[in-house]
Amino acid sequence: MQFIDLAAQQERIRSKIEDRIHEVLNHGKYVMGPEILTFEESLARFVGVNYCIGCASGTDALLMALMEADVGPGDAVFTTPFTFIATAEVIFLLGATPVFVDIDPQTFNLDAKHLSLAIQAYSAQDASMYPLPAHEGPPLTQKAVIPVDLFGLPCDYDVINDIARARKMLVIEDAAQGLGGLYKGRQAGSLGHVGCTSFFPAKPLGCYGDGGAVFTNDQETAEILKSIRGHGQGGNRYDHVRLGLNARLDTLQAAILLSKLEIFQEEIHLRQYVAEAYTQRLSQSGTLATPFIPEGYGSVWAQYSVLAETSDLRSRIQEALKDAGIPTAIYYPKPLHLQPAFSNLGYHVGDFPVSEDASARIFSLPMHPYLKEKDIDRICSIILNGI
Ligand SMILES: *Cc1c(COP(=O)(O)O)cnc(C)c1O
Repeated sequence: MQFIDLAAQQERIRSKIEDRIHEVLNHGKYVMGPEILTFEESLARFVGVNYCIGCASGTDALLMALMEADVGPGDAVFTTPFTFIATAEVIFLLGATPVFVDIDPQTFNLDAKHLSLAIQAYSAQDASMYPLPAHEGPPLTQKAVIPVDLFGLPCDYDVINDIARARKMLVIEDAAQGLGGLYKGRQAGSLGHVGCTSFFPAKPLGCYGDGGAVFTNDQETAEILKSIRGHGQGGNRYDHVRLGLNARLDTLQAAILLSKLEIFQEEIHLRQYVAEAYTQRLSQSGTLATPFIPEGYGSVWAQYSVLAETSDLRSRIQEALKDAGIPTAIYYPKPLHLQPAFSNLGYHVGDFPVSEDASARIFSLPMHPYLKEKDIDRICSIILNGI
């Protein structure tokens, strides 16, 4: 059994993908070919925003968003420690300082109440109110918040946007896992000042390599993002008005994504069906917590993650599944504030107890739109027998 079965999807749309790849080979516009614009327009429509700017990866999407927000040395950016490293890595790469904020124990997303606390503590420069990063020199400017739509579930953006607005901070939505998720009728990717996503093959909308996109409703922001994507280009090719990146999406990947986008909405429904089947079977276990989806939210189920009662129970269930040839994964085994790469922030064990507890007990089950009912049955019966 596969954790994510990309071959089952490819079998469905292989000939369409091949046709589109042949078109690219025929026209030869490998960089910024016509498929890019078509894909950007289609995805902007799907997300319900005015602008979609394709780029080379989800990491570059986040980097571009922070560069557009002029984030750099002297700035603080609030985010969750319970995420993939890229979310906080880009803050560091630009010389800014991540300020971590603990998660909600039920959704695993950045807890808006903790965000308020962290901002108050930071403003008062009082680490006794909330754990703060070590920093020498004058206090940093509180510049932005990066909420992460973890496992495909959007964060509470109405509350987070209000908190950020009151402090004149920008909200940059990390929808690398969230694209296709819903918040009060609005699509993930459209929920902050800008939204960022990834087309890494294992994401809900994946290509056959690396790719990403940034979303915004603001025309000026879109123009700056396009400029950053191509070496800070101005009005013409060798006019550089700012420092930028080489962060373009490949034409071939856009061609592949066009074929995948056509079936994306249907795949979201199939994912929902798989998630419901899991929850129906596992919710009676007593020692496993199944995912919590608040009223008015829709997850795209980038992962189906459950919380075992203890770390030891997690190991035993994972072992039993492994013996039966069923892969599982742990997202994330170590929260970012405890990663060596961030050690100079001076955080300690115990600073973000909800994230640390989730890291010790969470694990994810095979999840993709083509998971069969009999496989779900088998997975769940092994889990329930092992408890
Ligand atoms: C995958 C991921 C990224 C990075 O995307 P890449 O395309 O791999 O660079 C960023 N944030 C989160 C939450 C992710 O899951």
